[in-house]
This record gives sequence, C-alpha cells and structure tokens, in this order.
Amino acid sequence: MSSLAHSRSYADSHIFHRSLRKKPANIVSGQGITFTLSSGRTIIDASAGPAVSCLGHNQPTVIEAVTRQMQQISYVYSMGYTSSSAEELASLLLSQKPGGLAKAIFVNSGSEATDAALKLVSQYWIEMGQSQRTKFIARKQSYHGNTLGALSVSGHASRRAYYEPWMSHNVSFVDPCYAYRGKADGESDVEYALRLRTQLEDEILRLGPDTVAAFVAETVPGTTIGCVPAVPGYFVAVREVCDKYGILLILDEIMCGMGKTGTMHAWEQEDIRGPDIQTIGKALGGGFVPLSGVLATQNVFDAVSNNSGTLSHGHTFQAHPTACAAAVEVQHIIGRDNLLKNVVVMGSLLQQSLEESLGSLPHVGDIRGRGLFWAVEFMRRPSTGDPFDKHAGYSNRVVEVSQDLGLNILGTLGDTGEYHVEHVILSPPYIVKAEEVAEI
Ligand code: PLP
Repeated sequence: MSSLAHSRSYADSHIFHRSLRKKPANIVSGQGITFTLSSGRTIIDASAGPAVSCLGHNQPTVIEAVTRQMQQISYVYSMGYTSSSAEELASLLLSQKPGGLAKAIFVNSGSEATDAALKLVSQYWIEMGQSQRTKFIARKQSYHGNTLGALSVSGHASRRAYYEPWMSHNVSFVDPCYAYRGKADGESDVEYALRLRTQLEDEILRLGPDTVAAFVAETVPGTTIGCVPAVPGYFVAVREVCDKYGILLILDEIMCGMGKTGTMHAWEQEDIRGPDIQTIGKALGGGFVPLSGVLATQNVFDAVSNNSGTLSHGHTFQAHPTACAAAVEVQHIIGRDNLLKNVVVMGSLLQQSLEESLGSLPHVGDIRGRGLFWAVEFMRRPSTGDPFDKHAGYSNRVVEVSQDLGLNILGTLGDTGEYHVEHVILSPPYIVKAEEVAEI
C-alpha cells in the first residue's frame, strides 16, 4: 500500500474528508504545474486537480486581478445589483455569440450550474405555454453533479445509491456514445451513431415527444467513462433529433469545456450549431476562486424575458465579483498567450507519450481523449474485453502509486450498476511545456 496514503491518522482533523479513515495529504503551496505537500514533497499536478487549474498554480496576474477587485468591491448581491467583473466576463464569453449562446448565469459550482440549467429549462417550457414538457433524457455512465437535481440526471449508480428516494422519476437514460465498450463488432462509426440516434428517438417516442423538455449530455464525458470523444456524426444526429421534436439540448462542458479540448467549447469540434443551454465550470475560473455558469441562447432568454420577465432562480453568492474578476483574467491570459494552440500541440505530444509508454502494458485497454484531456482505461484482459469488476480498485492503486512517484492524476469510476469502468485522467494545465509532458 502507498506510503503517502497510509502515513496519516485522522485523529487531528475536524473535517469530513472523502475517506473518513485517513487524512489526505496537506497541500501547502503551488507553482506552475506543481504543488508542494506539508512533508516538503513536490508533486506534478498532471490532472490540474479534477481538470480545474488550467493556468497552474500561483498565477501572479490573476492574484492581482482578484486583489484589485476585492479592494474595489468584495461582494455584490446579484438579486438587485450587478458588477463590472460579472458583466465583463459575460461579454468576453458571449459577445461573439458562439453557437447563438447569448446570456449567462454565474454560480459557484458545476452542480449548481446543472441545477440552474434544469430549472431554466423547466421555466422555459412553462413560459412557452408547454408545461407538460417535464421529462428529461440523460445518458447512462454520466455525471452532472452532486446536488439532488444534478444527481437525478446523472447515470452513476454508486453516487446515487444513498439518495435514490430523492431522485426524480422524470428522468430516463439512454446509452452514451462510448465506442470502446459500446460499438458492436464490425459496426462502423456511422452505423453506431445511427443506432444511438434510433435509441434516443425511440425513447422520445416512448415518453411522448411533447412531454420531453431536454436531452442532457457531456460533450466529452469525463469522470465516469474518461475523456471519450463521440464518434463523428453522433452529435449531429442528437442535434437533429432534438430539433425534430422541439426538445432543448443541454451540453455539460463543466469538465471538458473552456479550452481543455483545444477549442473554447468542445462542441465546436462536432459540426453542430451548438446547444440551447451549456454548462461551464472548473477551468472557467482556473480554480483560483469557485465559479461555474450556464450559457443560454437568445431564444431561451427571450422566452423568459418576454413572459414573466423574471428568472426564478438565484443564490446569495451568484455572479460573485471576485470569482468573475479571476475568470476575466484567466480568459485574458488564455488569449494573450495563445494557450488553446498550446493545448493542441502539447495534447498531441501527450497522446503520443501515453501511447508509446503505456500502450502495450497488460491492463491498458484504451487511451483516448482530445486536447489536454486524456484518459487511460484499464481492463483485466484487454484482448478479450474482460473488464475489472467493481471491487478491483485498480485505478485507485494507479493513482496511489503515481502519487508516490510524484505525479498527481485523477482516478474516477464509471458505474451504471450494469457495468463498471476503471480509468485515470490526465489533464495538465494549458501552460504545460514539452519537457514537462515528457516527465509526466
Ligand atoms: N458536470 C460534470 C461533467 C462534472 O465533471 C462535474 C464535476 O466533476 C460536475 C458537473 C459537478 O461540478 P462540481 O463538482 O463543481 O459541482
């Protein structure tokens, strides 16, 4: 067992950590793509936490921007006021109207963003005079957050297990686009995308098309099945089916978005006009201050604005000026330093290194991703498609061993209750250099 993981007792911690048996290592400082533990050990943050710290740690101009904002005004109650930093962030993200997205709601966590998106959809349909549209279709092996609304649209059995009585019965699940495990022998990408399209359409018809409010999907699923880009044509099919029945498309880009795949929005690589509603988070604020958001088209905004004229949702810390000021500076740095290009160039180097160094190892089943968002999926026997079972704990072991070697990566699991997925994610900060990729 890992020395780092087992050297600490819980006795001196007053916090509910994830594990209630061992206190996690204490990170005391960070610089660039590394952080340092209280033991003095320096670790390469090869996953940027859970794909959050897109500019790495200790970025001086973000700190200056945050300090400046706090000196000007440290809190603004968004129910009756706005701030320059929130307005500037929204305009940076939306003035070009990417995919027709035109308006933003800023909240604190990805889960809140998912809840806000679900509530916006519900309000939209009532304002449109179609209050019977109450059903959501989501995907198996999905994660959209841990609040009760977000978990209700998440196809992840073990995360839901303790809360099933709270889960909405207005959600049904279809298969994700997951070629490595889902594509049949001899099936082409086109046939696979068509099969998934048919499955979605059948589900809409089964529910009754005019009762369906929205379809929810991560553009590139992260924590559950690990950085799986859809096969070409899948999202074109999804967009077409949603349009055919007038159903809203929500794309969750909380993990995969804000530049991680090499374009600001992952859906820009899918040949679709964009979603009706998009959620963003994690890299949006670069982890300097918590921040997530919902982006919506003018059409969605107008439906609410032209009818009740009031957004029936809000939080005390919504559109927090300090968080928005950090995100504005993150956006400036990404643009100024041409970091999306670095994501593409370093991403292909990372892909090459992963394939060369891990591709032929016995339990490596699949290596996939896009930009700087990569996963390695483990199988008990890749040649026969024999997966690890739920209790194998293989990816946790890989994370522990990596940590002992000075490398932080993310180990997460996919779990529908029907089948289990073991993988680790590497998603280094966008500032990563070639020699650092080699070291990772
Ligand atoms: N959606 C996706 C795709 C995520 O990966 C996550 C978190 O991992 C969330 C939503 C929830 O975000 P948060 O943990 O900030 O609430």
